[in-house]
Parts: sequence; C-alpha cells; structure tokens
Amino acid sequence: MAGNAQPAGTAGSIDKEALRRKYAEERAKRLRPDGNEQYQRLEGKFAAYAEDPHMPVKPREPLRDHVTFAFIGGGFAGLVAGARLAERGITDVRIIEKGGDFGGTWYWNRYPGAQCDTASMIYMPLLEETGHMPTEKYAHGPEILEHCQRIGRQYGLYENALFHTEVEALEWYEAAHRWIIRTNRGDEFTAQFLGMGTGPLHVAKLPGIEGIESFEGKSFHTSRWDYGYTGGDPFGAPMTGLSDKRVAIIGTGATSVQCVPHLARAAKELYVFQRTPSSIDVRNNQPIDPEWFADVAQPGWQKRWLENFTANQAAGPGASEDLVQDGWTDIAKRLRARIFTLPPEKMNPEGMMSAFEDADFEKMEEIRRRVDQLVEDPETAQSLKAWYRQLCKRPCFHDAYLQAFNTPGTHLIDTGGKGVDRITETGLVAGGKEYPVDCIIYASGFEVGTDYTARAGYDPVGRGGVRLSEYWADGMRTKHGIHVRGFPNMFVVQPTQGANLISNIPHNLTESGATIAAVVDEAIRRDAAEVEVTEEAEQQWIDLLLSGPGMMIGAQDCTPGYYNNEGQEPGPKAKLSVGYPAGAMAYFKYIQDWRDSGKFDGLEFH
Ligand code: NDP
Repeated sequence: MAGNAQPAGTAGSIDKEALRRKYAEERAKRLRPDGNEQYQRLEGKFAAYAEDPHMPVKPREPLRDHVTFAFIGGGFAGLVAGARLAERGITDVRIIEKGGDFGGTWYWNRYPGAQCDTASMIYMPLLEETGHMPTEKYAHGPEILEHCQRIGRQYGLYENALFHTEVEALEWYEAAHRWIIRTNRGDEFTAQFLGMGTGPLHVAKLPGIEGIESFEGKSFHTSRWDYGYTGGDPFGAPMTGLSDKRVAIIGTGATSVQCVPHLARAAKELYVFQRTPSSIDVRNNQPIDPEWFADVAQPGWQKRWLENFTANQAAGPGASEDLVQDGWTDIAKRLRARIFTLPPEKMNPEGMMSAFEDADFEKMEEIRRRVDQLVEDPETAQSLKAWYRQLCKRPCFHDAYLQAFNTPGTHLIDTGGKGVDRITETGLVAGGKEYPVDCIIYASGFEVGTDYTARAGYDPVGRGGVRLSEYWADGMRTKHGIHVRGFPNMFVVQPTQGANLISNIPHNLTESGATIAAVVDEAIRRDAAEVEVTEEAEQQWIDLLLSGPGMMIGAQDCTPGYYNNEGQEPGPKAKLSVGYPAGAMAYFKYIQDWRDSGKFDGLEFH
C-alpha cells in the first residue's frame, strides 16, 4: 500500500494485514547500515556549538579539599539526591554541573515552547516539600528551571556547588576509602561518597549530513538556542529577529514538535525537514486553579499522585481512579480495557499480544485521523501521518504543531524517510531540490545508544584499577540500578535495572535519592568507611532482571529510532537494559520496604 491509500476504520473494521504491511514498508525506507554512526558530536569543527549561550563562565581557583558526598550532575537526579541527603542532615554535599546553574536538561533546553510532556503534578519533583503549585497541567521550561533553583536554594545546595565544571576522572583511593575527583577546571578533591546522575539525554548530536560544515549562514542545536539571533526569549516573546529570515529546522521529534509553532509564527519562511513523522496526540494543557490545588495538596498528596500514575500503567487491573488523566494513562487504560474484556479462551500471551496490537492500531488510526482534521493541505496531512506502533517512537502530544503547517510560509519537506541529502554553503538539498536558507536549526536530538561512560565523559576507576567500562563491557551490572560491585561508596542514579518507569523519569530519581540517602545515613551511623554491594547480591539482582519479560518498548520491528538502537541488532548488552520484572509499581513498593527494613540486604558495610 502506498501514496494516499490508507487502511481505514476503527476496531473490527481495521485491515490489520494492510497496516502491518504499511508499517513494514515505512520501516524499510528508514533502515540504514550506519545506525548510531550516522550522527556526530558537537566537537572539532562544531565545538563552539556546545558552548553555553545562557551564562558566561566565571574564572575561579581550582579546589583541593574533601567533601562527604560529591554528586555529578545538577539536574533532577542531583537535586533530589541532595535534598534527600539534606533531609537526613547530610549537608556536606557538592554537586558538580557542566551548566552555569542547576536544571540539567532544563538549563540547556530553552528553545521556544519547551514544556514537560508528563503532567507537572508528578513530573516536577518535591512539589510538596517546596510548596510550589505548578501554574499549568504541563509546565513550561522557565517554570521548571526556576523550580530546580528553588530546590537548590531550599536544601542549601548552592553553597558547595561547582558550575561550569566537567568531571574528567574519578578514581577510588583504596587506602583512604574515598574517591578522587578531577575536573576540567583543574580541581582535584576527594569525597567519601559519590553519586552520578548525568541523565540519559545530555550529549547533543548533529546529523552526519554531507557538507554540514560548509554552511555559511547561522546554525545551532535546539539545546543551545541563540535568542541573540532569533530575538524573543524562553518565556514566549516573539522572535522578531526571524521576521525577514528563511529558516530550516532538521528533525521532527519531541523538541521540534514544541518549537515549530513558534518558528512558524516568527519566520518569513520555515522549512521543516522531516525524516519520520512523530505521532501527535491531544495535549489539552490548562492552567492549574489555585482553589483546586489547595484542595488536592493535602499531606502526602504528591506520593499519592505518583503512585496513582504508576498504578494506572501497571499490568494488572489498574487503580480505581485516574488522578493524572493524560496521554500516558490513556494509552494504558485502552490497553487494559482490551485485555480485561478478552474471553477466557484468549487470556493467554498470544491473545494478549493481539489485544495489545488492536488497541495500538485503533489509537494510531485516531491519531492519523486527527492529522486530516487539522491540516488543510491534504498532501501535507498525508506526509504528517505516523505509520508505526505508538510506542515505537516517543509519543508526542501537542495542540498547535499540526496546525502550524496551515501558516502561510511554513513548508513541510517530507524526505520520505531518507533525511536531508546534503548541506551547501547557502542551504539544504533534499529529494534533489535545493532550499536556500539563512538559518539551520538542528532538532536532531541526543546520544542514546552509546556506552554510559562514553556519554558521561569519564570512566570511574574502581577497586583494583578496574574501569566501569570494563566491568560493564558485557552490559550494565548493578543492584537496584544503583550499587555496583567493585565501586564502593558509588551510586548511580538512573531508571534502568530499577523501576525503569519511562513515562515519568523523575519518579525513578526521587526514589533513588531516598535510597542513597538511607544507605549513606546508615554507613555514617555505623561509622563504616565503605559500603558496597556483595558479588552474590548483585548477581541475584541480575538473575532476577533476566527472568522478566524484557523491554516493552523499542521492538526490533519498529521504525528505527533511539528506542530500538536505530533498528540495528542491539546485541547482548541490551538484555540488561531492563527494569524490575514485576513492574514499576512493585519496584517502588519493594524498594521502600528494603529501605524501611533497616537491614540493607545485599550491601556490606565495613
Ligand atoms: P529525537 O532524537 O527525538 O529527534 C531527532 C529528529 O531528528 C528525528 O525526527 C530524526 O528523524 C531527525 N533526524 C536525524 N537525522 C536526520 C537527518 N539526517 N535528516 C533529517 N532528519 C534527521 O530528538 P528530540 O530532541 O526531539 O527529543 C529527544 C528526546 O528528548 C525525546 O524523545 C524526549 O525523550 C525528550 N524530550 C522531552 C520533552 C519533554 O518531556 N517535554 C521535550 C523534548 C524532548 P528520525 O525520527 O527519522 O530518526
């Protein structure tokens, strides 16, 4: 099936065979042998692209001292770990951050329209502790950045923080039972405990398009937005600098979806270069009513909301109510509705997978119909339809993106899965046609499929001189996604091998923060110089993880993207990129019990 022919109908009337064929055809157009190698870092000729456009780097003297806890990364992970430690009276905490302030992804990504994709009530950490009421169901970037600063201030994390500083080396100093930390600012200090929370998407990447270095106009990556050139600001002021400019944006992922409506309004001409369309469902953002919030914000409210959101995505019958009511809980509810109405003879893995597919086909048909309803030009509408299962790519939710293509001067350049052919001194070539432009904006995303230590920019050297990259050569090995054998007093803060709740990353991080604070508190209480997971406990955890069903997203038959290693065989390491087999809800319960028991099973303190 090609061109305008499309499988029609809902539920029973969907031609499933035709859809499966169409999905396979569209995937085949996008497969390429170079996988992750197709991208390049903001290095070499592009090093200037990585510089901080938001704040000048202040000179300072290198540090040579000792702290109780050093944490790498000043985004949500570092902030919540710092907060949980402070709550237990551990305040000698130094956060090391490459940006000029706290915020992590929200420090860097100040592109117009940046907004959280998961509801603020559960996405923004420590709302109850700080007393902040989000202003919108999905808060915009500046408010989230400000919230990060609020957490930093409230928990006294600014005093000891090192901004515009990148860790270059980490080494376990066996004799002194502490870590040595070296940075690009000449620091060399020690810490008894070390946390690492550098985030999964912090290394910006550019497409490896032929001729990319030859372009003589203005260009930048979305995570380094140049308001000096475009005019406007992250709060939504009009980008007057673009009123006489021809602008190209490369990429149509979650970032592009949020900034295209703003660019469409501002630019004289806007060319959106699309390789794969995103699925765009309804956003339905709304201001939060202070009276409603006052009613909701009773003691323990955020934990209740977090648990309710997670419960609504669990495999079982779900929670009796849906507090968050967004696109994520909708996906899960539809799926459950299908599965739990199956006749008894179809209540088996095959029947359930088929019900899953039906729910997905139905949802995606709805999303494709929405494109026809909102986009005036039928050819453009056809090109904007996503032909893959919803969780093959990051689902997007937006109420102005599709409509932006009705703006005069905004053009969708559908490259039919092939991407931009070439960049010249004056423009871009796609499908053999040249588009002269003044400015190219790269909405080309962040490194994902590369090794943890390659992305981190340092490779911790643990007990006996073993590097983390060596220890993880066959895949990640931890207990709880946090503790690593051979790397005493070190804690990793990220979702994998823990709850792995992809729809709300901050929930994973706040739980890890609580776990780490409990362990450090216990080590201090016992006057232990070291705490480390035992070999046996780590192996048991790995065995448990491998007994599970594996990853639910990123199937190999999906259209290529960072969810499935760009369609390349992920290799044996990917088997370990999983979460707790019983699901996120069960993990959060398990980890709370583990902490509260006070036994810290699997760890040795000495
Ligand atoms: P993505 O990796 O999702 O998107 C990159 C885009 O660039 C894709 O559309 C990709 O096409 C395209 N591209 C790459 N190479 C070429 C090429 N040679 N020619 C044309 N197009 C090309 O990056 P984003 O920055 O959009 O998003 C990254 C992640 O960050 C999201 O998935 C999400 O997890 C997070 N995010 C979250 C937000 C939130 O919560 N509010 C907002 C924004 C981002 P193709 O699809 O074919 O590879």
